[in-house]
Amino acid sequence: MAPRVVVIGSGPAGVRAAQALVEAGLRPTVIDEGRRDGGQIYRRQPEGFSRSYDTLYGTEAERAASLHASFDALKSMIDYLPETLVWNISPNAVHLVSGTRYRTLAFDSLIVCSGATDRLMPVKGWHQAGAYSLGGAQVALKSQGCAIGSRIVMMGSGPLLYLVAAQYVKAGAQVAAVLDTSTLMQRVAALPRLLAIPAALKKGIALTRVLTQARVPVHRGVQPVEIKGSPHDGVSGVEVALPGGERIEIACDAVALGYHLRPETQLADLAGCRFLFDADTQQWLPQIDDDGRGSVKGVYLAGDGARVRGADAAERSGRLAALAVLHDHGMHVEGMERLRRELARFTRFAAGLRAAFPWPAKFAASLPDETIVCRCEAITAGELRRVVRATGAQEANRAKAFSRVGMGRCQGRYCGHAGAEIIAAAASVPLASVGRLRGQAPVKPLPVALTEASIEAASTEASAEISE
Ligand SMILES: Cc1cc2nc3c(=O)[nH]c(=O)nc-3n(C[C@H](O)[C@H](O)[C@H](O)COP(=O)(O)OP(=O)(O)OC[C@H]3O[C@@H](n4cnc5c(N)ncnc54)[C@H](O)[C@@H]3O)c2cc1C
Repeated sequence: MAPRVVVIGSGPAGVRAAQALVEAGLRPTVIDEGRRDGGQIYRRQPEGFSRSYDTLYGTEAERAASLHASFDALKSMIDYLPETLVWNISPNAVHLVSGTRYRTLAFDSLIVCSGATDRLMPVKGWHQAGAYSLGGAQVALKSQGCAIGSRIVMMGSGPLLYLVAAQYVKAGAQVAAVLDTSTLMQRVAALPRLLAIPAALKKGIALTRVLTQARVPVHRGVQPVEIKGSPHDGVSGVEVALPGGERIEIACDAVALGYHLRPETQLADLAGCRFLFDADTQQWLPQIDDDGRGSVKGVYLAGDGARVRGADAAERSGRLAALAVLHDHGMHVEGMERLRRELARFTRFAAGLRAAFPWPAKFAASLPDETIVCRCEAITAGELRRVVRATGAQEANRAKAFSRVGMGRCQGRYCGHAGAEIIAAAASVPLASVGRLRGQAPVKPLPVALTEASIEAASTEASAEISE
């Protein structure tokens, strides 16, 4: 009997994984919580919008068109479940919700291609209306064709900082400044690794040219001080310290923040995969082999959800994980070695990006006590430090239980990394020993209208299917 393969995500990794499975004669199920396929980078605009591929995707227009065409061609050969959230995973079954409908689906192999989200470091005032993540600012532009404000500051570090700033400039928005916490020297030192993918490096340089031509002020090596504003009017400006210590304030009505990306790993966690501390990126990542096999038999991880290496690498790792599935089911496959070799170049390039735009771990220790760390639960850095000192909680989940940092609707996606840095600094322990927030189901909020009866009915159906 053909193996039942489920692919989570219809971004570059998920689409290429599904394509390889279909080529081998399988009919996979592809699940995505989004309304349309394409994932983050090749996010499709809503039906009824008619911007051209060039307008929407710029230099990536051809790649976007190719991915979309591939997925359109696959649709009759897969079971595609859009607008469907995978909210939990149990052994050999995924738990889904679509609208108010609950469903459980059994699988023999699961390929998780869940992508990444912004990696965020809090700054005083970032909870005010008008403060977005860089990814959020880009989604507003790509999906809805609107800007987050009329005078915008982009702050943080990483390729997305320059990409989103350039996209806003090209769309006609006023970018008041780009405030980068990394330095030019860090970028120069990373050059040998960045040269692993010369075309990507060239694209990065072109982005800075867009900003220069538009005369957008770019300050490097800054330390964020405060996002100014008021509860009534929202964001009114951003204050940073320049490398020499001088402080400047830039007036704006919106700010977009971010420090590169972090993989979405909750589903891997719920699937029971083992995690290891990655000293290079200073975070816990699911353990995978070169082909994307997780530590749990039958669970494979691909794309940015496993390792942040960009969209081209995601396409390759998605295909490679699918080939690994086929190989593990005893089918003949070709091309794995070539994909592994190509991915090694992207891994080197990604390491270069991390060195060029480092995660500013040290900022966490110096955050003023009144800075909100957990925006969902409105918990400050001072409260988290107090909890660590008063209770001796030096482990992330224990500190969460006492402080509620990471207990809100984002489940620690946006505050977890900074929270761990604050705990480590307050307890004077290494970051690795703080551990990581355990993934909890549901990974995202479920509709209240989901009735107990529908859950029970679906569970019975699923148990019958699994025992078959
Ligand atoms: C906000 C944002 C913007 C980005 N913009 C760019 C850009 O402009 N240019 C660029 O080069 N790179 C960009 N990147 C990086 C780029 O998105 C990735 O390199 C690439 O998209 C990775 O492909 P992927 O298939 O691994 O993940 P993604 O493209 O992120 O696709 C993951 C898919 O999984 C789905 N998913 C996740 N969790 C669940 C769940 N629980 N249930 C159901 N479905 C789920 C998501 O809806 C999504 O469609 C961006 C990243 C982010 C986070």
